Amino acid sequence: MPDYSKPLPTPDPITQPFWDSVKAHAMQMQKCAHCGKFIFYPRAVCPHCFSRDLKWTPVSGKGKIYGFTISHQKVIQAFANDVPYVIALVELDEGARLMTNLVGVEPDPAKIKVGMDVVVHYDDVTDAITLPKFKPA
Ligand code: ZN
Repeated sequence: MPDYSKPLPTPDPITQPFWDSVKAHAMQMQKCAHCGKFIFYPRAVCPHCFSRDLKWTPVSGKGKIYGFTISHQKVIQAFANDVPYVIALVELDEGARLMTNLVGVEPDPAKIKVGMDVVVHYDDVTDAITLPKFKPA
């Protein structure tokens, strides 16, 4: 695997199941057994109803662009060679939203639309870490 010099997540006991699931290319998120909502990021307590009864549950990996921006700035040196690139907030069909990168499309605002259908793209960036990015469906 090529050297990867960008920032990486640091899984902890609460987030490890998420990172394990994306590593397996089978993303899971926590679903609240009390109110039924999916949540992201992983945490110990449901932000909707404060239940601690959260179950790791497979998600479809399908969703829509909720919002996006195209970064042209080389503020973060690790991403300087990637500009322009797309930072997107994706709302999964299950309702949870996650911040991600949109890949497989030109970083052109004329080609990306809020509400556009997207699907997860597992990017195995290191032996230990896979990042869930999204591409047009
Ligand atoms: Zn809940």
